[in-house]
Amino acid sequence: MTRGFYIGRFQPYHNGHHRVVEQIADEVDELVVGIGSAGDSHTDRNPFTGGERMMMITKALVDVDLVTYVVPIEDINRNAVWVSHVQSMSPRFDIAYSNNPLVVRLFNEAGIEVRQSPMFERDVLEGTEIRRRMVEGDDWENLVHPKVAEVIEEIDGLERIRRVADTDSS
Ligand code: NAP
Repeated sequence: MTRGFYIGRFQPYHNGHHRVVEQIADEVDELVVGIGSAGDSHTDRNPFTGGERMMMITKALVDVDLVTYVVPIEDINRNAVWVSHVQSMSPRFDIAYSNNPLVVRLFNEAGIEVRQSPMFERDVLEGTEIRRRMVEGDDWENLVHPKVAEVIEEIDGLERIRRVADTDSS
């Protein structure tokens, strides 16, 4: 039994992340999706709360034929103990998936195997670009799972993201 761990901020969870999860599904029996910076919300870079991102991911993952656990992981101010912090919050895992150089280094130093998880169509499937489209009223719904678009509507996410973009720039 192999269990993977895929960490990201998922602001929001988009089709690029979903394709990565579908690929990881071929390699593991179970997957933990770690929501990074789970305590951050209501900013330009992190508009959605940990709970809102849990809803997006849980609902989108219903399609994927894999046992998954969604776990919020708050940031801490010591990189040296971050892996222990992650392990204290997550079901046990064997392989971590990340392309973030700091995350790769911290897991490697802790003796955990890390596999790269390349994303597709990065010109549009990118959190920053999707948030920009939401703020500016451009098309974004086709870049996320329909269930994610439903959650963003339910929480009035467009109003939130526009308001925090305004506040942050003023
Ligand atoms: P991130 O800061 O959320 O993302 C960095 C960049 O990598 C973003 O452009 C992101 O794109 C992209 N990305 C995400 N998944 C990818 C993939 N599979 N392939 C290629 N690019 C990808 O960092 P993260 O690695 O996704 O998440 C790491 C989390 O761990 C963060 O919340 C970070 O704060 C946390 N962390 C905390 C500590 C600490 O507390 N001391 C230490 C290390 C890490 P999108 O915007 O499109 O997702």
